[in-house]
Amino acid sequence: RLELTRLVKRYGEVEAVREVSLTIDPGEFVTLLGPSGSGKSTTLAMIAGFETPTSGTITLGDRDITTLSTHKRNLGMVFQGYALFPHMTVFDNVAFPLALRKISKSDIRERVTEALATVGLGQFADRRPSALSGGQQQRVALARAFVHRPKILLMDEPLSALDKSLRRQMQIELRRLHQTLGTTVLFVTHDQEEALSLSDRIVVMNEGAIAQIGSPTEMYENPQTDFVAGFLGSAQ
Ligand code: ATP
Ligand code: MG
Repeated sequence: RLELTRLVKRYGEVEAVREVSLTIDPGEFVTLLGPSGSGKSTTLAMIAGFETPTSGTITLGDRDITTLSTHKRNLGMVFQGYALFPHMTVFDNVAFPLALRKISKSDIRERVTEALATVGLGQFADRRPSALSGGQQQRVALARAFVHRPKILLMDEPLSALDKSLRRQMQIELRRLHQTLGTTVLFVTHDQEEALSLSDRIVVMNEGAIAQIGSPTEMYENPQTDFVAGFLGSAQ
């Protein structure tokens, strides 16, 4: 389980994240939902190890990972602007996290082939990313994020660049992936509908703090603050 305890991140005067405490169980799909500037990306960046918390702790299992370097955290990541390498084939892009580890060539081939098949892109292994559609590129990014079998997948608005129908398609794929692999997913979006349809639990953030945590039904039927009610209500 992933546990955030009173996480704080300050940038000078700005308190981007204020005492966020949250426990995520293995295999859960949890979504951080909130308006622009509410601290979603900063929270994810601290879990990824891109930012060091001003105070508070992050533990994974019984390990304190608060200041551990990113590559030792065994995470999969799909971040906005975390683009594919244009000069590499689809295969090499997906193989990249494995090439950083001591894994044999034949094992790499097997795992990449399997990951590409999972996202339905087996036949595109030899193409360059520029020869794929936007949705196909995002699926490659997704395959690259889980090919090394991370304990946790962190995804910061991974579908925001897609049009509605592709977005729908990817949501279904994501949900299926999560179910078949049993990976813990921490997802970020400011799209209420997306959060409600994908998540086991939703964490609504406002001004750096958690406004409410609950299942989609609990959130929707019993919002505990005007902010949550207003924010979820605006989906209608
Ligand atoms: P969005 O939906 O727009 O992506 P967000 O919820 O991801 O928003 P964050 O990116 O976490 O929001 O930002 C939270 C606050 O921290 C904002 O007020 C932002 O301006 C500030 N902030 C984020 N990164 C930095 C930084 N490197 N330096 C200074 N302030 C920052
Ligand atoms: Mg963000």
